[in-house]
Amino acid sequence: PSREEITYWGAGPALLPTDVLEGAAQALVNFDNTGLGIAEHSHRSQIASTIINEAKADLASFLDIPDDYEICFLQGGGTGEFAATAYNLVGSWITNKRREIFSQIKDNEDQGTPEEFQKLQAAVDNDLKLDYIVTGGWSQKASAEAARLFGKDKVNIVASAKQSNGGKFGTIPDESTWKLSKDAALVYFCSNETVDGVEFQEFPQSLAPGPDGKGPIVVADMSSNILSRKVDVKKYSLIFFGAQKNLGSTGITVVVIKKSLLAPQTPQPSADIMRRLGLPIPPIFLQYDTVASNNSLYNTLSIFDVYIAGQVLKKLLATYPDKASGQEAVSTQKARLIYDALDSHPSVYRVVPEKSVRSRMNICFRVTKGDNVDVAEADFLKQATALGLTGLKGHRSVGGIRASSYNSIPLEGAQKLAKFIADFANAA
Ligand code: PLP
Repeated sequence: PSREEITYWGAGPALLPTDVLEGAAQALVNFDNTGLGIAEHSHRSQIASTIINEAKADLASFLDIPDDYEICFLQGGGTGEFAATAYNLVGSWITNKRREIFSQIKDNEDQGTPEEFQKLQAAVDNDLKLDYIVTGGWSQKASAEAARLFGKDKVNIVASAKQSNGGKFGTIPDESTWKLSKDAALVYFCSNETVDGVEFQEFPQSLAPGPDGKGPIVVADMSSNILSRKVDVKKYSLIFFGAQKNLGSTGITVVVIKKSLLAPQTPQPSADIMRRLGLPIPPIFLQYDTVASNNSLYNTLSIFDVYIAGQVLKKLLATYPDKASGQEAVSTQKARLIYDALDSHPSVYRVVPEKSVRSRMNICFRVTKGDNVDVAEADFLKQATALGLTGLKGHRSVGGIRASSYNSIPLEGAQKLAKFIADFANAA
């Protein structure tokens, strides 16, 4: 089939706009009439810096990212960020503890007096915690990585949706049950769980700053819903996302971090201090200070992937005068069409997550028509594929059907799927 005949609902990598790909195909051969392709130009060239700086500016514009945030491009995917967020924010926590405990600090190497260092060690042993709100497979993996790196005793599961829901994801535990640590190095959540179809509908109240303006260090994985809705960036210390769903091609990961968490305000402690405290030391390419102070060019970055992301952002900015809010209206409309079609046929379909936490991006459901779900779902997928509706199979760990309604799926794509959902049910 041709591209035009397919509406691809896969969870990522996702569809890219055809005109962006056509431009990129040309740019791969000869970028801007330079005789060299975009993937062949040096990452140290002016061309590369311009691409990086424009992508940063356009992302900041589309998402209203304030000036006191830095935007970094990294490699290593969302999975790399599970480790990087833990490493870096524990580092910041240590720097802040040294400020509290040491009478003076000369530099990042300074280990204080023996008594001071002992107090620091006691703080690490007794008080260091990394808080995770586990609402699906991805936040679970992030918390497992933190436990692997820092030890299980350092990881506090603030809430576990699986525990409160009979062993299955599909809810967000009520905030009144959350058990946040005092002074955690970070509080982590995944704003949209790609596998389980669970999305935070708004910023959690319990993570908001108090009347003194001070709040927890909030980290959010927005890999699968970034650029699909307005985000109040100020409420977060750090947001990260892989490019491969709503931003661009697989190969870069974006970190939006408050500058106050970086040097010179909060430099990372030296490797010697971390080693002496018995804490793991981040690989240099995962250290945000290093990445940020080199404008994401500490080592060779895939400029091609930044270029693609930049082209997608330019298209988004040209399409939506009111930026993320404009895309949000369309995302919401698409999701409503599909959920309405499913809800209209309760004897044929069952949406997996609870209604109040349904994701607008990853719509997860079962086909319960007849007495064999597997047969019904295979039939659903076969008929959908015949109509050009592809990539609808659920994640291998949970099964079922998943429609990933990322930004590059047009409203007409959602209309087509909603119609098929209704037709399939009516043919029962
Ligand atoms: N976080 C979320 C929400 C995801 O959906 C994914 C992948 O699909 C990841 C993290 C992991 O990303 P990666 O495969 O780039 O490491």
